[in-house]
Amino acid sequence: MTVSTLTQRLEQVRQQIRDAAHAAQRSSDSVRLLAVSKTRAIEEIREALAAGQTAFGESYLQEALVKIRALADAPIEWHFIGPIQSNKTAAIATHFDWVHSIDRLKIAQRLNDQRGRRPPLNVCIQVNTSNESSKAGIAEAELESLARAIRQLPGLRLRGLMTIPAPETDPDKQRLPFRRLRECRDRLNHLGMQLDTLSMGMSNDMFTAIAEGATIVRIGTAVFGPRPNSRKH
Ligand SMILES: *Cc1c(COP(=O)(O)O)cnc(C)c1O
Repeated sequence: MTVSTLTQRLEQVRQQIRDAAHAAQRSSDSVRLLAVSKTRAIEEIREALAAGQTAFGESYLQEALVKIRALADAPIEWHFIGPIQSNKTAAIATHFDWVHSIDRLKIAQRLNDQRGRRPPLNVCIQVNTSNESSKAGIAEAELESLARAIRQLPGLRLRGLMTIPAPETDPDKQRLPFRRLRECRDRLNHLGMQLDTLSMGMSNDMFTAIAEGATIVRIGTAVFGPRPNSRKH
């Protein structure tokens, strides 16, 4: 058995993204790869960096801050993709370039206030597209008013929507939450919001997400291999 290196896996994922975009008749540069580096060592991030990957996603703040400090000299765009408690917003607002997981106004307001004089923080609203009580994300019915409120905050730039669907292996069923997220984005754009981002698709459902319009896929396992101490998301 050949063990592929991180660099090889990264190239393979890039090729899969191009193939999925091509199959969906989309240009391959319309889909960005966010390498999800939670639980990964700083050395692994450096290796991915050396292979040209510059956008990294983290879910656990304390762990992320250690990496961000250690890699302060590297040209990395850091994305926060995990659940956000209000006592964590100050560090998130000052250390990250993107936040994908906003699901309530109070968190958005705190990030806005704490962003200070930095350029606006790019944000996505996390939407619950599976109606599962265990998963984070705002209900679709409340999305428009949250989006309108966030657009009033000068420290934030609302870029789009994010979702983490319930696990589903049947490709036909996999599609539905992604389609719902795209339809939510289209509705908001009809209201004049100009959202350019759909953050959806992980290692197991990337192909389907791209078929439904993903512009950022968040990929951990397929890039870095199985997570060591598989902390549940
Ligand atoms: C861990 C995680 C991912 C990556 O999942 P993989 O299945 O390893 O690709 C993507 N998005 C979020 C929000 C995550 O927490």
